[in-house]
Amino acid sequence: MAIEKNTDIFGKCFKFTRAKELMAVGLYPYFRMIESAQDPEVVIKGKKMIMVGSNNYLGLTNHPKVKEACIEAVRKYGSGCAGSRFLNGTLDIHVQLEEKLARFIRKEAALIFSTGFQVNLGVISALVGKNDLVIIDKMDHASIIDGCRLTYGGVKKYRHNDMADLERVLQEHADKKKIIIVDGVFSMEGDIVNLPKVVELAKTYGARLMVDDAHGVGVLGKTGRGTAEHFGIEKHVDLIMGTYSKSLASIGGFIAGSAEVIHYIKHFSRALIFSASPPPASVAAVSAALDIIESEPERIAQLWKNTNKMLKGFRDLGFEIGPSETPIIPVIVGENEIAFKAAMMLQDEGVFVNVAISPAVPEGHALIRTSYMATHTEEQLDRVLAAFERVGKALGLIG
Ligand code: PMP
Repeated sequence: MAIEKNTDIFGKCFKFTRAKELMAVGLYPYFRMIESAQDPEVVIKGKKMIMVGSNNYLGLTNHPKVKEACIEAVRKYGSGCAGSRFLNGTLDIHVQLEEKLARFIRKEAALIFSTGFQVNLGVISALVGKNDLVIIDKMDHASIIDGCRLTYGGVKKYRHNDMADLERVLQEHADKKKIIIVDGVFSMEGDIVNLPKVVELAKTYGARLMVDDAHGVGVLGKTGRGTAEHFGIEKHVDLIMGTYSKSLASIGGFIAGSAEVIHYIKHFSRALIFSASPPPASVAAVSAALDIIESEPERIAQLWKNTNKMLKGFRDLGFEIGPSETPIIPVIVGENEIAFKAAMMLQDEGVFVNVAISPAVPEGHALIRTSYMATHTEEQLDRVLAAFERVGKALGLIG
């Protein structure tokens, strides 16, 4: 059927040329094909590259015990669950993992979903009703923003990690039932939320608090339990969300909190009820990863050794890395074009990095997002710094 050009919903697709323009000049940094495991070194087009664009913080995705656990689970349960947790898709290993995660996060109960993104969609839309309010940091993850879009309640944003602005919003909505949702570690900036102050404000103004700890679990806290453990205030956070796609070496996510709230979410979360449960191999991987976090604490120590080396290395070279204080280290380059150029020059140097441009980051603050693993060697990290130095000088980012 012929559709008039100006009433065709596909019109925007035909007009979208930006990505093709970048491809034409060899500056397109997305959907690059990796031909190896998500290790400190990966293979792209047959060439080895140092991977500093992965969220595999503890280096567990290729750990023999994790892989063995996946293979065992496939042997016993097969490849998938063919249905949602609510109906036919709950296996004994789903329930066991929920119990294990609840113990790990030190909450009464946990509920597992098929992706971290779905946790935020499912939890926020289940909890925030018509007359309620959800309050979020402006730089919260896209899945929180989209979760808010699914609610019938009000949504208010405050300036990034700005506690005075959060208090202003809380004061303006003192009469509402409300929840504050923050990232524990912000996924682009690599800074940590001012959680003690958020907790204090939540208490003062009668708000509930949820922390998305996608980048905190396995990274922060003495035993890798995340941002709340880092600050020693686990008891004061109502809900902790995590994903398996970072330190936990798999795919899926969880929400942990009081038994009654988790019970409610279990019965009202559409992203849980109407979507198939995580496959056996993914579940088994998380369980094995949690065991390794407990039995090999030196991994977290090594991750921080690597992180501190790189934070210092970039600052000493004169790069602008903002307030980062975690294994996520953004190198702020300014305009989008510079970010694309830098990423491809680094690729030519044998270093894999990610590019974040507006609107993911503010206009004029395009960045190269780097992130580190416990399994990077000192020699690999030195090569990364040397490559950045050459590229930074060539692009005039450093003197
Ligand atoms: N929250 C944050 C802060 C994240 O960075 C991500 C993943 N990028 C998610 C949630 C979504 O997790 P998943 O990849 O498991 O869907």
